[in-house]
Amino acid sequence: MATTWISGAERLGDGSIGGAMDKPDAPARVVWHTTESGHGNAAFDSVADYLIQKAAEPHILYDPVTDRIGQYGSFAESARALKNDGSTRTNRVGRACIQIEVLARAGDPFTAYWRPGKNFKALMAAIRSWGILDEFPMGTPAKTASAAKRDRNKWLTKGGHYGHCNTPGNDHWDPGAIDVKALFAAAPASGGSNGGASTSPSSAAYTVKAGDTLSSIGVKTGVAWKTIATLNGIKSPYTITVGQKLKLKATATTTRPSVPAFPGAGYFRPGAKNSYVTQLGQQLVKRGYGRYYQEGPGPTWTAADRAAVRAFQHAQGWTGTDADGYPGPLTWKKLFS
Ligand SMILES: [Zn+2]
Repeated sequence: MATTWISGAERLGDGSIGGAMDKPDAPARVVWHTTESGHGNAAFDSVADYLIQKAAEPHILYDPVTDRIGQYGSFAESARALKNDGSTRTNRVGRACIQIEVLARAGDPFTAYWRPGKNFKALMAAIRSWGILDEFPMGTPAKTASAAKRDRNKWLTKGGHYGHCNTPGNDHWDPGAIDVKALFAAAPASGGSNGGASTSPSSAAYTVKAGDTLSSIGVKTGVAWKTIATLNGIKSPYTITVGQKLKLKATATTTRPSVPAFPGAGYFRPGAKNSYVTQLGQQLVKRGYGRYYQEGPGPTWTAADRAAVRAFQHAQGWTGTDADGYPGPLTWKKLFS
């Protein structure tokens, strides 16, 4: 079930900032912003009010140092921190377009000094509940204004995480060159507690309430979607009515294979010898990268491991430091899923 409100978040404003999405058939996504301010409670309170005055509310205001979190509006509706791209209302692109303002400055990437806690984990759990993967389709957010990449086609068609710097029709370049691996590693997907975010049990009866949409109750529809629930009584064109009883049931065909937890970058370094290196190598062979090994794979980290990892990273379309041959959480996840 997709989380619409984070249960532990402070409510900011009157709870109503946007409305229905214009392009709900496009995949859900996240847009990261920075407020270009300092952090701490005084900054949080004044920025929270300022964004209301400006009518430029995101969904979430987050303090990266104190882990304080506030929410202005439901993730099932639009926020309003983006400019339109011509006639395209960028705030309303996607099944969800979750916007997060981090109390930080683009020129001083917050992942260098932040202290994410349980509220950050709850935020990431809520994001993932929308089926949003831990990836940035346009790469790591820009380090400078002039480096901002804004690919309109990707924006309209791909889900995942973006920066304001990636949104077509916009000129801001926040959130700066944050460490995207650190961002996801701070809230591991396999890591137990979801911080109070709501999730669906494996099988549950559900009565449709006013305001529910198929997506808000966790049902994906349409040709390319993988359904995450079996529905009783819903047929194409997939409509639901208030009071209707649904049986939501996770099915074997739709459960993703479980990804083993990423053990940490330190296990994959020159001189390292451990069973994770063997596990990594065996998975690389399974995925078609056996040609890099003249012997092994084995527990000792070798140039063959690195070459195979690098080839796998390049195959994901990654370049530069994202394809350095050393696995991070995202490489690990992609490799095992
Ligand atoms: Zn912004």
